[in-house]
Amino acid sequence: MKLDRVAVIGGGPGGLYAARLLKLSNPHADIAVYEQSSPDTTFGFGVGLASRTQRNLRQADAASLDAIVARAYSHEMSMQVGESIARLAHGDLLAIARTSLLSVLQEQARDAGVRLEFGERREPADLDVDLVIASDGINSATRTADGRFGADIATGSGLYLWCGTDFALPSAIFVPVTTEHGTFVAHAYPYAPDRSTFLIETDVDTWTRAGFDATTAATDPTDTDEASLRYLEKAFADTLHNHGLIGNRTRWMKFRTVQCRNWSLGNVVLLGDAAHTAHYSIGSGTKLAMEDAIALDAALAAAETVGDALAEYERVRRPAVEHLQQIAVRSEQWWESFPQRMDLPVEQLMVAYMTRAGKVGLERFLESAPDVAWKGIASYGQVAADSEAPIDASRWILARPLEHGDRSFCDRFAPPALREDPSTTVVSVDVESAWNEKATAVVDEARASSTIWLTGSDERDHVLTRLDVAERMMCSTSALVVVEIPTECVPDAVAGLVSARTHLVFVGS
Ligand SMILES: Cc1cc2nc3c(=O)[nH]c(=O)nc-3n(C[C@H](O)[C@H](O)[C@H](O)COP(=O)(O)OP(=O)(O)OC[C@H]3O[C@@H](n4cnc5c(N)ncnc54)[C@H](O)[C@@H]3O)c2cc1C
Repeated sequence: MKLDRVAVIGGGPGGLYAARLLKLSNPHADIAVYEQSSPDTTFGFGVGLASRTQRNLRQADAASLDAIVARAYSHEMSMQVGESIARLAHGDLLAIARTSLLSVLQEQARDAGVRLEFGERREPADLDVDLVIASDGINSATRTADGRFGADIATGSGLYLWCGTDFALPSAIFVPVTTEHGTFVAHAYPYAPDRSTFLIETDVDTWTRAGFDATTAATDPTDTDEASLRYLEKAFADTLHNHGLIGNRTRWMKFRTVQCRNWSLGNVVLLGDAAHTAHYSIGSGTKLAMEDAIALDAALAAAETVGDALAEYERVRRPAVEHLQQIAVRSEQWWESFPQRMDLPVEQLMVAYMTRAGKVGLERFLESAPDVAWKGIASYGQVAADSEAPIDASRWILARPLEHGDRSFCDRFAPPALREDPSTTVVSVDVESAWNEKATAVVDEARASSTIWLTGSDERDHVLTRLDVAERMMCSTSALVVVEIPTECVPDAVAGLVSARTHLVFVGS
């Protein structure tokens, strides 16, 4: 299809990348990006780019990826609880300052022949073009102005604050700190030789006890909540090596997951955060926006009309985006409930972290980081970390004996007779989330039982939620917990055993 004029609203990573790809595919078209801010104004600090994202970007446009990688900073990952640290060597993790990413993408768009108009706010009605790409971010006015996009916005229960520090941490680190007010968890990673992103999360009760409801109310939306930064500098002094925290319009926020029933109306299409968001703990917002751009460019190249192209773009992208959003919601809930796991040995915590959303299985983690994964498994199996790892780890995990109170089990398979025991409460779990009110009621009801047997649907998503409910029960009761699973979910149950999501499993069908 021949495109003559395209307008892109919003010069974030999604809009700039879409503009470049479209200009490369349609050299004669007039393609303009309208960005309300100046070229160097941005929020936030670094963003991470995982290895698979790099592969996809390379395939679409090697030159721009090379330019991004040249400005990026690679790092490894670790998790720390108290004095214990688990390290994960992982050569493919890259992070880049958001300002650098935007400046590279601006340069790349300009080199391709895109017009960049800064300080220009636009809405679709202003634009007489063949196609309007609304990449105007999470607060998209385009999406908000028209109810036919069918936006649904879910707000998370925890709070986060995105700040930075003026030195490069030795690796990405997840570190919880407990103060007199409660637990704060930092996700931090270096993105330049002299900078690290420092993202800190907490729950509402801790936030209120620390007085951050008041500091948030007192901070103008364009300012930084300095009082919170000073408090957090003290709390994280060890990790920060006494460096300070830097703000950039930094304030406590609740993450919003955006979903839309329709991604396009007429010749206007939503792209990136305007159409969908995914919790930052899976580091995928930028990736999703840029991969949207790749799919949109391909759909426009192949279709006869703009309408057909936009339908095809949505058909191709929606399943991938929704799949990632599902993973992101699990990850968000895992982090929001993080303090309940702080008694778990850090090696097992690393396994719990890697397998938290059902995206990475234990086998894959073992392949990519055998030393760290084995340490977690050894800790669960109560054998020395330097003992030889079994060839079939899953079988070994399931074969571990269990002592629970005065009861002993020779392996982790629940005997069928246990289900019929008068002391066992069988609970059919049918909840959308392990953390909603209905799930809390399920946990509370079973609290007095000495054995809790969780059953329910065989669908994988339900099984994962059941394991999360089981974990809540393990953390808040002294009951023996059994989760019923179908055969195809044995890998999830194996990861769940090591991660203290259940004591025993029953493989039903
Ligand atoms: C705390 C936090 C941490 C994150 N960490 C990561 C990470 O590690 N990795 C990752 O991949 N992603 C991360 N993200 C997500 C990432 O920042 C976003 O997903 C990404 O920026 C989306 O790109 P976008 O182009 O869709 O929108 P944006 O980057 O938000 O860009 C939208 C642009 O549109 C402009 N604009 C808005 N309205 C108009 C208008 N009417 N006219 C003109 N211009 C307009 C805005 O000024 C803005 O520049 C994180 C997000 C948060 C909140």
